[in-house]
Amino acid sequence: MPQSPLLLYIHIPYCIHKCHYCDFNSHVRTQPDWLAYQQALITELTHWSQQQQYQNRKLHSIFFGGGTPSLAPASLIAKVLEHAQNLFGFEDNIEISLEANPGTVDMQAFQGFYQAGINRLSMGVQSLEHRELQWLERIHGSDDVYQAFDAARNAGFNNINLDFMYGLPHQTLKQWQQTLASALQLNPEHLSCYQLTVEPHTKLATRHASSPYKLPNDEASLAFFQETRCKLASAGYQAYEISNFAKANHYCRHNDGYWLYHDYIGIGAGASGKWDMQDGGTHRYSNIRTPEKYTAQAIQTGSAINSDESLNLQQAAAEAVWVGLRAAAMAMSSLSSTPRCPIISFSCLGRRAVSTGSSPDRFCPLISRSRAIPGHAFNLTRSVAPCGTGFEPV
Ligand code: SF4
Repeated sequence: MPQSPLLLYIHIPYCIHKCHYCDFNSHVRTQPDWLAYQQALITELTHWSQQQQYQNRKLHSIFFGGGTPSLAPASLIAKVLEHAQNLFGFEDNIEISLEANPGTVDMQAFQGFYQAGINRLSMGVQSLEHRELQWLERIHGSDDVYQAFDAARNAGFNNINLDFMYGLPHQTLKQWQQTLASALQLNPEHLSCYQLTVEPHTKLATRHASSPYKLPNDEASLAFFQETRCKLASAGYQAYEISNFAKANHYCRHNDGYWLYHDYIGIGAGASGKWDMQDGGTHRYSNIRTPEKYTAQAIQTGSAINSDESLNLQQAAAEAVWVGLRAAAMAMSSLSSTPRCPIISFSCLGRRAVSTGSSPDRFCPLISRSRAIPGHAFNLTRSVAPCGTGFEPV
């Protein structure tokens, strides 16, 4: 069976503050033990390089996600990359991304990451409006974003993504249009625009349960989505996935790899990995989530698996369909000849297709990080009109 490109995900779980909407595996620590964490990552990487399913395969892309990877010393990033290259080798033109919080980085930090080998930055901006940033509990202001973006460019980065969030309580379409316009003035190569989702077990969920926020209804959510996709299309950004927009040749190869159901290694606290098996099924694992427990276990035994499972051919095929629909539906919606693309129907069908007894949300980083279009936001009859056909913002 031909093997897919191999991706490597590295989780850096530390943050300065836990944002109230966040359900990622992120932990506030004043002084993380970076040396121990580096040792754990390298030990785990060595372990996976010795497993048959990952042997003799060069890395196609690498992604440092979090948490806040830009808190990590550049020396840790450099060491992990050096080991990854020695153990696996890199494909030509490998994409190596790092997530950065604009409140944690300066010119020196960016220079360090660039010299360590990072060639793509993903900045968690979320908003450029003061009150929205405060409501989101972000540690940065809009000035930090502009300064960080300039510093990143000056450090040499020519492939930058900006993450934004819409559908915030009381946010109007006009406010979102202004945010998008400001984002476009920065001229990034890539934009990710997610709809706010109230995730279970977050502080936001608790607050929302006791005193509900005014969140957009279905019609308003659709208007935000339409506005995003049409505004970015007219600015030259291709929608290659429900929440992801890129200039030509700047798709995120790593995320594309998840949607194409490629194999990936995940190292770090709470990271997950998967590989396709000879019988057509898939095996996947997920690591211990607490940083200290993960670190101790990985250093001691070489791996830190918390749970794993095998999917048979039918389950794996269903999951591949569901994951792939996030990108496929968007591709369909951009076909000019498509009068009205039933994109949401596709997404919902995908969710149904995967009801095979497996639990993808626990394992797939893209699904668990998805804030694109929550299942409750639209019903099966919704469809998305092509840009320029006169949809009415609410
Ligand atoms: S949203 Fe990002 S910065 Fe905020 S707590 Fe979660 S991982 Fe950390």
